[in-house]
Amino acid sequence: MLRLKNTLTRTQEEFKPLDDRVVRMYACGPTVYDYGHIGNFRTFVAVDLLRRYLKYLGYSVIHVMNITDIEDKIIREMQAQGKTLTDLTEFYTAKFLEDIDQLNIERPEILPRATDHIGEMVDLMKRLADGGHTYTSEASLYFSIGSFPGYGRLSGLKVDGNVAGARVDVDEYDKADARDFVLWKAPKTADEPRWETPFGEGRPGWHLECSAMSMKYLGESFDIHCGGVDLIFPHHENEIAQSEAATGLPFVRYWFHAEFLQVEGEKMAKSKGNFFTVRDLVERGYSPMAIRYLLLSVPYRTQLNFTMEGLRAAESSLGRLRNFRRRVNEFSGEEISRARVQEIVGRAREAFEAALDDDLNSSLALAAVMNLVRDINIVMDAGDFGMGDRHQVLEQLGTIDSVLGILGAEESDMLEPQIEAKIEDRNAARRARNFALADQIRDELAAREIILEDTPQGTRWKRK
Ligand SMILES: [Zn+2]
Repeated sequence: MLRLKNTLTRTQEEFKPLDDRVVRMYACGPTVYDYGHIGNFRTFVAVDLLRRYLKYLGYSVIHVMNITDIEDKIIREMQAQGKTLTDLTEFYTAKFLEDIDQLNIERPEILPRATDHIGEMVDLMKRLADGGHTYTSEASLYFSIGSFPGYGRLSGLKVDGNVAGARVDVDEYDKADARDFVLWKAPKTADEPRWETPFGEGRPGWHLECSAMSMKYLGESFDIHCGGVDLIFPHHENEIAQSEAATGLPFVRYWFHAEFLQVEGEKMAKSKGNFFTVRDLVERGYSPMAIRYLLLSVPYRTQLNFTMEGLRAAESSLGRLRNFRRRVNEFSGEEISRARVQEIVGRAREAFEAALDDDLNSSLALAAVMNLVRDINIVMDAGDFGMGDRHQVLEQLGTIDSVLGILGAEESDMLEPQIEAKIEDRNAARRARNFALADQIRDELAAREIILEDTPQGTRWKRK
């Protein structure tokens, strides 16, 4: 029985979808004006774990993720780069899809773009205008939060009676006070993209698209809405207000929010030099699967401290897992099965499911896998292992990996530039007299079958 923490009720609840066998879920997707950073991908990996585990439990999943391709930052960026909206957003959409493929994140069933859904947004605005929830100011249309009594329920924000006239027309604002927010924005500059609508010429505010597209594809009430904790206010609060004010129905049953991550103990910021995209890390020689492993190593509702040391540890854990799979795969022996092996596999499966049932505790789920590796290695070392066991262990590993997505197919060998980068890191560690780190890097390479040899001319390497 899966239990999920629900941000709306602030408790862990048994998960039961509206429809017995189908789960309808929505996740706020990327704003495509730049490469995504690892903080964004922490959320996407958490959402991917959720969808994979739901499928493991036997549900079919309809997962919608929007592509925000019109928004303040996008307009600033297209103006700065002198590009058209389409050129800019298509480029970064393609890069985003490359990144999620690299991280083995399954693609959602539906990936709608905001600019393809202006009609749905206009319909929603009409319903809100008819219900008396909107007003016009300086040619833009605003949602009046005073017209929606439930405002603030998700974020726990207190809304004072008198918010009249307090408006905001930027897409993002983190000031913790409630404001009427913009639904439809009149153009501010001559070269801004715009659409002609009954509400005037302009473009949608950011919040509107998620209500319009989620309800189009999933219905006016659906099961799960996901995003990073930074979206709780104002974005998700505003989505609830718009949707429920229009339909009179509960919008979403379970709100799923992934925590922030820090990098080397600090908030990630471009100015601090600790800001990483997936491709930055791959260029430094880390594998996308190690990034995924590290992102999964802490439960999604707990802050994660993302460090290079953690990435190296993730690489070596993955190396252990792969070596184990190879060892079992290459095993040949008698056509027997041992009760002891069945017991170990059964225990691993139970621990794995218990961990994920507990609000997707991926940290304990990984521990269950590592215990399986340790215990099976022991029986194999003792020679208490047969072909029936081999089959059972491989099958269980495959099932577990259909949820964790960290092993994939037999991984191709490490590429030369990645190996050279690792050797360079190890040399730097040795120069800094950090021998523990240098040894760790050597072990990590050994786990991936790369052997180092230190010679007076420098370090040489070869494949095992
Ligand atoms: Zn959204």
